[in-house]
Amino acid sequence: MDQIILKNVTKRFTTKTLGDIVAVDNFNLSVHEGECFSFLGPSGCGKSTTLRMIAGFEDLSEGEIDLCGRPVSVKAENLYVPPEDRGLGMVFQSFAVWPHMNVFENVAFPLRIQKLNRTDIEQRVKEAMAHTNLTGLEKAYPSDLSGGQQQRIALARAIVTRPKVMLLDEPLSNLDPKLRESMRFEIKELQRKFNFTIIFVTHDQSEAMAISDRMMVCDMGKIMQIDTPENLYNRPNSRFVHSFLGESTFLNVIVKDGGVYAEGDLTHPLGIGIPKDADEAMIVATRPNSVELAGADGSGYLTHIEKRIFLTDRTEYLVPVGNQTVKIQTPHRVSFSEGDACSVRFISPMWYPREDDAAEKERQRRLLI
Ligand code: ATP
Repeated sequence: MDQIILKNVTKRFTTKTLGDIVAVDNFNLSVHEGECFSFLGPSGCGKSTTLRMIAGFEDLSEGEIDLCGRPVSVKAENLYVPPEDRGLGMVFQSFAVWPHMNVFENVAFPLRIQKLNRTDIEQRVKEAMAHTNLTGLEKAYPSDLSGGQQQRIALARAIVTRPKVMLLDEPLSNLDPKLRESMRFEIKELQRKFNFTIIFVTHDQSEAMAISDRMMVCDMGKIMQIDTPENLYNRPNSRFVHSFLGESTFLNVIVKDGGVYAEGDLTHPLGIGIPKDADEAMIVATRPNSVELAGADGSGYLTHIEKRIFLTDRTEYLVPVGNQTVKIQTPHRVSFSEGDACSVRFISPMWYPREDDAAEKERQRRLLI
């Protein structure tokens, strides 16, 4: 069953200095029951506005949102269900735990609002604290606890009402990298136990890939692609999605006389196939682990090692191709020195049209608002 449905959802803001902005442009998406679905994209792409509309903190300019089988925001009918009646759990970046309440009272707060009786409150808080490894800290105050523990209070407070849908907005960004990683597992574990649907907002692509069943990548208020992490990485539908997930090199190439040439070297072809609809000037994208590096007697494009960088688990090489530089990563056992002649072969490169400058300018404008 689809638990969160957005139909033609649009949100416009009017700003005094920079005019109108379409923060969310005609979003259509369905999130399935029990799914962990991430909103991913650069700052200003519309992630938080979409989440706020789902939560009910923000009105829609157009469209409809349904949660767990019932409409909660329908612009055309002026229908609006307030946040507290949407049955959601929420955790935000700034943990929003109350400093003047001890841990027990922080976690119990939503149940007191719901006017549950004392025995039920005690039993539910105990259970939520046990699931978030907070048992024993009932009487402690948030200021005595670490960032990770404070974030667990926020999680416990969100699960204590047993919501069907959990909205998590950059919930890990105030934590150090090690803690972030372990909290990811804890969130997934809680999801398994309580079987709620998660919408997870982040601008950290590796975090989104680690936690999500599916992800939506957006840019400048538009949905660019929705798919599994693996498909988004291996089959991005645009240069933008390609560059946003993982590392890449984008080579400007020229297609002529049946060959593909890097700009700056129209004499030696790159030895890659040409897609049917290729223009003369195109971009070829490669991942650092999808370029084969061989000796100068190899069959690929002949060049040399410009720079060698020893990383902990692999070696990185920068190699000139035409007037550009390609990044290649290999296991440590493939060893070249700076200056060595070598050859490179591009394995399954992806093709994109030359980037639209107007899109980049609009991206910059939005970052200034
Ligand atoms: P971030 O990762 O920085 O939080 P985001 O992807 O969540 O970014 P939003 O916060 O949803 O982006 O903002 C989308 C666009 O809408 C931005 O250009 C932002 O400046 C604009 N915007 C958001 N809220 C308002 C508001 N209340 N008034 C005017 N413009 C707004």
